[in-house]
Amino acid sequence: MTRKQKKMLIRILVAAALLIALHFIPVAGIPRFVLYLVPYFVIGYDILLKAGRGIRNRQIFDESFLMAIATIGAIALALYDRSGDYTEAVAVMLFYQVGEWFQSYAVDRSRRNITDLMDIRPDYANLEIGGKLQKADPDDIAVGSVIVVQPGEKVPIDGIVLEGSSTLNTSALTGESLPRDAETGDEVISGCINMTGVLRIRTTKEFDESTVSKILDLVENASSRKSKSENFISKFARIYTPAVCIAALALAVLPPLVRLLAMGISPEWGMWIYRALTFLVISCPCALVISIPLSFFAGIGGASREGILVKGSNYLETLSKTGVVVFDKTGTLTQGVFEVNGIHHSEMEDHKILEYAALAESSSSHPISRSLQRAYGKEIDRSRVTDIREISGNGVTAKVDGIPVAAGNDKLMERLNIPYISCHQAGTVIHMAIDGAYAGHILISDRVKPHAEEAISALKAAGVRKTVMLTGDRRAAAEQVAEQLGIDEVYSELLPAGKVEKVEELMEAGTEKSKLAFVGDGINDAPVLRRADIGIAMGAMGSDAAIEAADVVLMDDDPLKISKAVRISRKCLGIVYQNIVFAIGVKMICLVLGALGIANMWLAIFADVGVMIIAVLNAIRALFVRKL
Ligand code: ADP
Ligand code: MG
Repeated sequence: MTRKQKKMLIRILVAAALLIALHFIPVAGIPRFVLYLVPYFVIGYDILLKAGRGIRNRQIFDESFLMAIATIGAIALALYDRSGDYTEAVAVMLFYQVGEWFQSYAVDRSRRNITDLMDIRPDYANLEIGGKLQKADPDDIAVGSVIVVQPGEKVPIDGIVLEGSSTLNTSALTGESLPRDAETGDEVISGCINMTGVLRIRTTKEFDESTVSKILDLVENASSRKSKSENFISKFARIYTPAVCIAALALAVLPPLVRLLAMGISPEWGMWIYRALTFLVISCPCALVISIPLSFFAGIGGASREGILVKGSNYLETLSKTGVVVFDKTGTLTQGVFEVNGIHHSEMEDHKILEYAALAESSSSHPISRSLQRAYGKEIDRSRVTDIREISGNGVTAKVDGIPVAAGNDKLMERLNIPYISCHQAGTVIHMAIDGAYAGHILISDRVKPHAEEAISALKAAGVRKTVMLTGDRRAAAEQVAEQLGIDEVYSELLPAGKVEKVEELMEAGTEKSKLAFVGDGINDAPVLRRADIGIAMGAMGSDAAIEAADVVLMDDDPLKISKAVRISRKCLGIVYQNIVFAIGVKMICLVLGALGIANMWLAIFADVGVMIIAVLNAIRALFVRKL
């Protein structure tokens, strides 16, 4: 509980005690009125101040205003008809505050629940200075520093293991409790917990650019992107409250006037004013106003526990309407870890041609180039490489020891006007051109991800109409993967611009209720990730550009998480709609009962606080998504 919440709780208890005590003190007239004002001010002074401030700022129509008018009105009425029944006004204020207190407590709890689970921010990094470990602020660690992570500590910054081996617990990042092994040469991402051995890590990023910082940024900014339902609620509140006030005024004035003037009977002013005040209490839109953002917040939190980062409630809303899922191939459905199957038509030694390939590819982050560098296996001397150009969807060109080298697909060779020899075996082909002449090709192949096939059938089961694969790779390689996984449509040999065009075509065929999600990993996927209704990026292997452009990031690159994300979003939106219907429904019933004089102020406040508590509890359900 925060200090503010504790203070509020004390006020609630004091006011309640005073109210009960006053019940047993037999005073009447003005002394009674003054005595009842004490608990009234104890519990309601801040609401009265807020209402006053609202009037001064000409933004009168809010909850505080409704509560102030209703309770002051009820007190005035009791004073006027000499009934001395002030309990009701004080109790209404009291229950209203109980509701507010509960609401702030629930919001805090679920916020803490989420931040706890996201408790991955490392507090320090160990530097080894003069044989001793010293703790340093992760913010101050420069790229390329060597840090030491001991068992039980969090990896503070992304890097590469220089020495040591260990298992890492990635559950805070991915929701997966499967430990991952890390050995010399492996990349490790920040936020994992080192479980067994001591690791010496050379950092490859600054703290701000590291995975942890990125994730925390995403989560913190998620609530700023509002969904349509949330916008609907704030618009709704803007017209709703004034409308209710006018209706209340009409209820207070019109029936008595009609009775008096048209029917010639006693107007019963007191009764109608009381009904109008009840009407005001009932109309407080608190349950809606709080429970909808809370539902989205809980949904986003629940998803992030599963390693699915959703960048805003609007995306959760769109995700729930996913009808078509379009995939990139390499790195998305396949592992992006290629193995060299053969080197053909080359007059050089295999090792030599791999060296040229690895050097030319030395600054690309494409899975192909990483794989070629791995196949080469030796330390790469970057100073031998100049003039590197990466041509998206084609390959790279560079100068190695001053000699022009090109590595890429058929398109690259055509672009450079170099005759090439096609390969008749299945797999991805990297043609090599050295010093302007064809130098053979490297045949590499990739494996599909372990869950890829299951992921496609899970999407179908979740009600996705169509799955499509777009790739820059050869037709043969593409069709083989699509067939193996059961994907409905394939388009191959596409350049990044071609992917955008295809996605646009597919989106035109879609409807308002059937949104298109694109799932990708590469730099070349960034434009499509932006263009699609929903962009989903692979967070671990994926390029920064893709993660930046995407609306949803899968921390562990597991395609099975896509259908999970869809199901989480549907559950969350379901809860949002339940709350809207429930809250508005109960409100409408109470308003009618109030106008008819069946519901009094007591019932009104109980209904309101009750609806709010139920709606908030329902909202928190969105946090629990493990079994979806
Ligand atoms: P995908 O759409 O399957 O992810 P890309 O669009 O990234 O594939 O790449 C398409 C093709 O372009 C690859 O199959 C490869 O032939 C070629 N290519 C792209 N980048 C490189 C690179 N860095 N080195 C060699 N070839 C590349
Ligand atoms: Mg790719």
